[in-house]
Amino acid sequence: MNVEEFAYWAHRLVDWMAEYFKNVEQYPVKSQVKPGDILRQLPDSPPEKGEPFQQIMDDFERIIIPGITHWQHPRFFAYFNANNSFPSVLAEMLTATLGAQCMIWQTSPAATELEEQVMRWLAGMIGLPPEFDGVIQDTASTATLCSLLTAREKYTDYAINHSGFYGKPRFTIYCSTEAHSSIEKDVKIAGFGRENLRKIPVDDSFAMIPEELEKQIQKDMRDGYTPLAVIVAIGTTGSTAIDPLRAIGEISKKYNLWVHVDAAYAGTALVLPELRWMIDGIEYVDTFVFNPHKWMFTNFDCSAYFVRDKEALIQTFEIMPEYLKTPEDQRVNNYRDWGIQLGRRFRALKLWFVIRSFGVRGIQQKVRQHIQWAQELAEEIDRHPEFERLAPVPLATVCFRFKPAGIEDEETLTQYNSELLNRLNNSGKVFLTHTKLNGRYTIRFVVGQTQVEKRHVQEGWQLILETAEAIKKERM
Ligand SMILES: *Cc1c(COP(=O)(O)O)cnc(C)c1O
Repeated sequence: MNVEEFAYWAHRLVDWMAEYFKNVEQYPVKSQVKPGDILRQLPDSPPEKGEPFQQIMDDFERIIIPGITHWQHPRFFAYFNANNSFPSVLAEMLTATLGAQCMIWQTSPAATELEEQVMRWLAGMIGLPPEFDGVIQDTASTATLCSLLTAREKYTDYAINHSGFYGKPRFTIYCSTEAHSSIEKDVKIAGFGRENLRKIPVDDSFAMIPEELEKQIQKDMRDGYTPLAVIVAIGTTGSTAIDPLRAIGEISKKYNLWVHVDAAYAGTALVLPELRWMIDGIEYVDTFVFNPHKWMFTNFDCSAYFVRDKEALIQTFEIMPEYLKTPEDQRVNNYRDWGIQLGRRFRALKLWFVIRSFGVRGIQQKVRQHIQWAQELAEEIDRHPEFERLAPVPLATVCFRFKPAGIEDEETLTQYNSELLNRLNNSGKVFLTHTKLNGRYTIRFVVGQTQVEKRHVQEGWQLILETAEAIKKERM
C-alpha cells in the first residue's frame, strides 16, 4: 500500500465509521455468534503474498462485524460502559498516525507535557485537592497494583524492592466483600498472598462497615500481622455502593494504613458538585483511580491515577539504565517511572480532545442525564408489583429482579431471572448483565452509553416488561 492508496482507504473508512455510528442501533447489541464461529472462518496460515485492501475490508465486514458486541450501541446496558465519542475517535486516529512511543519526555515532549496538564485539569474537574499529581495508566487494575506496590515500598523503606519479602512482616490488606476482583488479583501479584486480603462485611447499601474494619485490624495486630493498606470502593461494580471514606480514613490514620480509592466507574460522576460528598474525607487518601474510559466518553484504554506522594511512586518504579538517560531528566516528567510499563501510548491526546470538545459543562450534562434516567427507571421498578429493586441507586446503575406474585423460592426466582436475562440478550435489542447481591440473582441496568437517550432506557424497560410477562405466561 502506498500513501495514495492509504489516503483513498482512509477516506473510505471514515465514511464507514460515520455510517456505523449512524446505524449502530440496527446491529444486535450482543454478538449472536457461537463459540468457534469466527475462528472457523479464519485461514490456518497467513497469506504469503499481500492481499488487496478491498478483500481485507470485505472480510472485516463479513467475518469480524458479526462477532462484535456493540459497546457503542445506545441500548448497551451491561457491565459498565466502555465509551467512545467522536472527538475521542478522531484523537485515536491521530495517535495511531503519529505512532509515538511516549516513555520519556524526549520521546515526545508534547505527550508528556499534555499529560501533565490534562491530568491537572481532570483532578480539578472531579474535585481532587491540588496536592495530587496524575498519570494515565492503562486500566484501574494496573493503577491499584501500582498503589499497592508503592504502599509496600514506602512502608518498608523500599526494602522489598531491594531484597524481597524474606524476613519482612506479614502484611494484611483490606477491602469490602463487594470490592472489585482486580484487588484480589493485585494482592496476589504484589506478593502479599491472597489469604492476607481481608474482605470486610458490608451494610444494607453494600458499603463497607467501618466498625468491622477496625475490629479486623485489631484482631490482625493481635495475631501478629501488620495492617498495611485499605482499598475504598467509591462505586462498587455490583451495585455502585459508596464506602464511607471519612470513617475509613479516620481508622486508617489511627492505624497508619495506606488508603487507595477505587472509583473506576463512579469517579466520572464527581464532575457533578452535588456528588462530591462521595469523596468527603479525601484528605486521608494516598492514591485514587478512575476510568475516563468508562463514563467519560474516552476510548479504552485510559485510566486516571492520582497520587499524593509522587516521589514514593517514582522511587518504587524508577529504573535508570544508561541508554535511557537524558540531559532533561531533572526538569521533566519521565512517565516510564510512574508505573509498570516502559513503553506508553499517547493517551492524553484523546482526553484533551474530549474535554475540549464537550467542555466540562457538556460532560456534566450527559452524566446528570444518565443519573436522572436511571432514577426514573428505579421509580418504575419500585411502582411495579412484580419487580423488586435490590440495591440503592446512588448513580446510574439499577439493580433489580423479576418477582412474580406468589413466587418466593430463591432457586425459582433465579431461574426466572436468568431466563429473562438470556432472552433479553438473545433478542439483540438490549444487553444487560447480572450479579449476586445477598445471594440473590440480580439484573443490572447501567445507563451510561455516550449516545443513550431517555427513549432507549424506556425501550429497554418495555422489553423487560414484555419478556417477563411472556415467561410468566409460559411457566404458569
Ligand atoms: C471496572 C472496574 C475495575 C476494573 O477496571 P479495569 O480498568 O478494567 O482494570 C476496578 N474497579 C471497579 C470498581 C470497577 O468498576
